Amino acid sequence: MMEFPATRQSALQRLDDFLEEAPHYAARRNHVLPGHPQVSRLSAALRHRLVTEAEVVEAALRKYPFRLVEKFLQEVLWRGYWKGWLESRPRVWDCYGVPSERSEDPGDAEVAAACREVAAGRSPSGIMNHFARELLETGYLHNHARMWWASYWIHHCRLPWELGAQHFFRHLLDADPASNTLGWRWVAGEQTRGKTYLATAANIGKFCAPELLERAGGVGLDEHVVARAGQAGDPTVDDMTFFPEIPNEAEVSDSQRRVALILHDEDLCLETSPAAPLRPVVVLQFVPEPELPRSEPRAQWLELARADAARRAGEHFGGEVRACRTSEEIIHACSAERVESVFMMEPFVGPLRDQLREWPADLLPRGISLVRLRRKWDSVLLPHASRGFFPFWNKMGRMLAKSGAEGLS
Ligand SMILES: Cc1cc2nc3c(=O)[nH]c(=O)nc-3n(C[C@H](O)[C@H](O)[C@H](O)COP(=O)(O)OP(=O)(O)OC[C@H]3O[C@@H](n4cnc5c(N)ncnc54)[C@H](O)[C@@H]3O)c2cc1C
Repeated sequence: MMEFPATRQSALQRLDDFLEEAPHYAARRNHVLPGHPQVSRLSAALRHRLVTEAEVVEAALRKYPFRLVEKFLQEVLWRGYWKGWLESRPRVWDCYGVPSERSEDPGDAEVAAACREVAAGRSPSGIMNHFARELLETGYLHNHARMWWASYWIHHCRLPWELGAQHFFRHLLDADPASNTLGWRWVAGEQTRGKTYLATAANIGKFCAPELLERAGGVGLDEHVVARAGQAGDPTVDDMTFFPEIPNEAEVSDSQRRVALILHDEDLCLETSPAAPLRPVVVLQFVPEPELPRSEPRAQWLELARADAARRAGEHFGGEVRACRTSEEIIHACSAERVESVFMMEPFVGPLRDQLREWPADLLPRGISLVRLRRKWDSVLLPHASRGFFPFWNKMGRMLAKSGAEGLS
């Protein structure tokens, strides 16, 4: 489990260790090697904000000039780009569907059986079977392996991308509604007009370590496969919703009110967030039933990360952190503590946001207001994810090169 840091301290340590490697990242990052020493493996920690993108960028720029770590910073910004893209187009998530509401049965027994075989690592391709098992056992795949595997699922096995994305979402420690859904859509040709991604034996042979290929029994891909055509069209303004403005700081007067603070999985570092100056009468950790049954490695990782977040929040805000499984339990706890305002970090488009959709309506009749906060990083960067990645990177990369990321956390 320490391979994928599940506490803030171990994530900061990993960041520190990885920065030694960071100047070589551009040359080495695409290679899939046993143990993945050439990439950071910080994705689960970043996804749940045990560390923030701003902290990662700031640490890299403190140690190196921009040009030496440009590629690494670019990849870190892909995460924010996908987040911003989906935040402005929530219908893409709604149409793909909340995973819990999606049926495991695609309505076709043959397709369902084929999905199970490929997912379990019982397909004709040795290397894809290796990646299937790696995902089940560790909850992680290298980026290149994710691209190859998704491509194999969609274009070689002719299986629905949505079911592949759902399988990833259940098993990845870093399972993220934006990076995962849009990553799969990109491979399927649903995301970028004219682009699909087809895995080839030549590319896998070039970037996959020979010992992995040998152990897996070779590549085993049919080279005559033609990519399925995607449906991506040109985005129109009608597809986009207004990027909502949410405060980056709590008002000073708020600290005089009876405040409850919600700790949830989208931001497990409240003590470095805009909520840090608050003096809540109670901190409530929202630990709802999962939207999909989670794999064992993912459930274990989350348990460690949540416990770490609760301990740090308890130390910072004083007092114990209480776990609540449902919104009713939260409302009950707030009423018992005569809370006037509930504060929480705004969740992004995804299952947690869906679960919290009814909250304001539930709280208001009890005289409790809900105040949402957002980190500066998200307010500054995410609204720029309106078109393709490179216009976004050109603007945001230039800003970071000039001013760094200090103050954006
Ligand atoms: C089909 C598919 C599904 C994916 N699903 C997820 C997911 O659910 N959650 C997730 O965090 N990433 C996802 N990714 C993106 C990427 O594969 C992982 O973020 C990366 O492999 C994580 O490993 P690392 O931390 O060692 O990355 P590093 O190479 O060390 O990169 C540093 C950080 O940059 C970010 N990053 C790097 N590449 C990408 C990328 N292509 N897109 C978005 N962010 C990136 C991650 O936060 C990562 O931790 C997916 C990619 C594909 C092709």
